[in-house]
Amino acid sequence: EEIDIESFIGRYIDTFKIKYADFNIKFKINRVETFYTDPVLLGSVFQNLIENAYKYSHPQQKELFINISQEKRNIVFSFADKGIGIPKNELNNVFKKFYRIENQYNQNGSVGLGLAFCKELVNFMNGDITVYSKVNEGSEFIVTLPYEN
Ligand code: ATP
Ligand code: MG
Repeated sequence: EEIDIESFIGRYIDTFKIKYADFNIKFKINRVETFYTDPVLLGSVFQNLIENAYKYSHPQQKELFINISQEKRNIVFSFADKGIGIPKNELNNVFKKFYRIENQYNQNGSVGLGLAFCKELVNFMNGDITVYSKVNEGSEFIVTLPYEN
């Protein structure tokens, strides 16, 4: 169905701001207003990426910048945090099922499925998900979906 991006993402951000009062989320939408997608699937991807950004950021630096743009025939969502980052040698592993990296912010009850699930969903929507990260600087997850499906 046709999604109004600003109100769609705005709803997710509002929910997280209620859940986590110290979460500073900003977003910018560049030259794209609506697109066709499955809102439930896309919402699950947002949910997991936003949750991770919060979980794996230091207490005084819970920041997330979401950038949405259109590139050629794709819509590109970038989620950039200033968290603990991911070691270079682990970047290929984070999308694997049940894969977790031990760190000070792992929580009981986390199983390492969030990103594997995101990848499954994004691939199902004919898109792609990638990550760039530097330890102690932050991570950027990029979701690319075809503009017309
Ligand atoms: P679950 O999502 O199932 O509750 P999880 O968060 O540990 O558990 P994933 O979301 O699949 O699992 O992430 C896999 C691992 O990648 C995490 O254990 C974490 O170490 C690392 N990771 C994920 N997102 C980030 C991020 N934004 N910054 C730093 N590390 C991250
Ligand atoms: Mg997770």
